Amino acid sequence: MAWRQHLPIFHPMPETQLNTDVALGVAIPSRNARGRIARLTSVVDSVLSSHRYPPVIEKLMAEALVLTALFGSLLKEAEGQVTLQAQTENGIVDLLVCDYLAGELRGYIRHDPERLADAGPNPSLFALFGRAYLAITFDHPVMNERYQGIVPLEGDNLGQAAQSFFAQSEQIPSLVRLAVEKSNGRWTAGGLLFQHLPEGEEGRERIHTRLDHPDWPHIAVLAGSVKPEELTDPALPLDDLLWRLFHEEDEVRTLSAVHLTRGCRCDPDYVRSVIARFPPEERDAMVGEDGLIRVDCEFCSSSFAMKPSEFAKD
Ligand SMILES: [Zn+2]
Repeated sequence: MAWRQHLPIFHPMPETQLNTDVALGVAIPSRNARGRIARLTSVVDSVLSSHRYPPVIEKLMAEALVLTALFGSLLKEAEGQVTLQAQTENGIVDLLVCDYLAGELRGYIRHDPERLADAGPNPSLFALFGRAYLAITFDHPVMNERYQGIVPLEGDNLGQAAQSFFAQSEQIPSLVRLAVEKSNGRWTAGGLLFQHLPEGEEGRERIHTRLDHPDWPHIAVLAGSVKPEELTDPALPLDDLLWRLFHEEDEVRTLSAVHLTRGCRCDPDYVRSVIARFPPEERDAMVGEDGLIRVDCEFCSSSFAMKPSEFAKD
């Protein structure tokens, strides 16, 4: 009904919604630190339900999704987008893509099932990717800005790779912790990101960065004391977890929470417009045995079938 449109967009979230499928921002002004903490359950299930991944790849996807949620919750523009992409040549996993837009997450992983089966139940990040690169792209459409950082994919897990992204690409002292767990057939992924912004709080320009500022080791020790089981416990609200970690600080400000959902932006009209741009002879080559042109979305596995006659010249 029309009157619904006049309701305020922002309203307090019920307390239970700080447990999962949510990201919460935090600022610790006296230490010039900012943080993000996120936990996902239904979002991971929903993304995985579109794919038939083996457990190793499911775990990697759970980690990548919560990491993407942490990056996404750093965006200041509601229309901003973050894309996380890890790419390699000749890895067991040769492509991992996750993105975030307005609280919606999606992702897919391309891998070689036969080689994965030979890699054992708990392969290292290097065993999965070999020599690879992690690219993180921030798009800010309102400000018409795009920023991309690319670093070697290094470390034991994606969290460590993200930490070196901030250290190498942005030179911001940062700490990233990710934890994923599967119980009763469901994945929970939790993550925490803390950063030192020594020239002031969020929103102020960074004039210079001291990598050895004494406030930072203090925050890094407290944030780093988080236990994996705290990150993945859906019964523990994120604000309670922040209280556990930082209750001795003078002031801890929580920012507005971002509710996270699974969402795909594939759209039949867009797919049709892409196919329409191909020359007719190339379109003819796309027609399958059933007489239809089929395009699958790799993120959500939606299949779009189009008749060649739809593209016939007027
Ligand atoms: Zn899709």
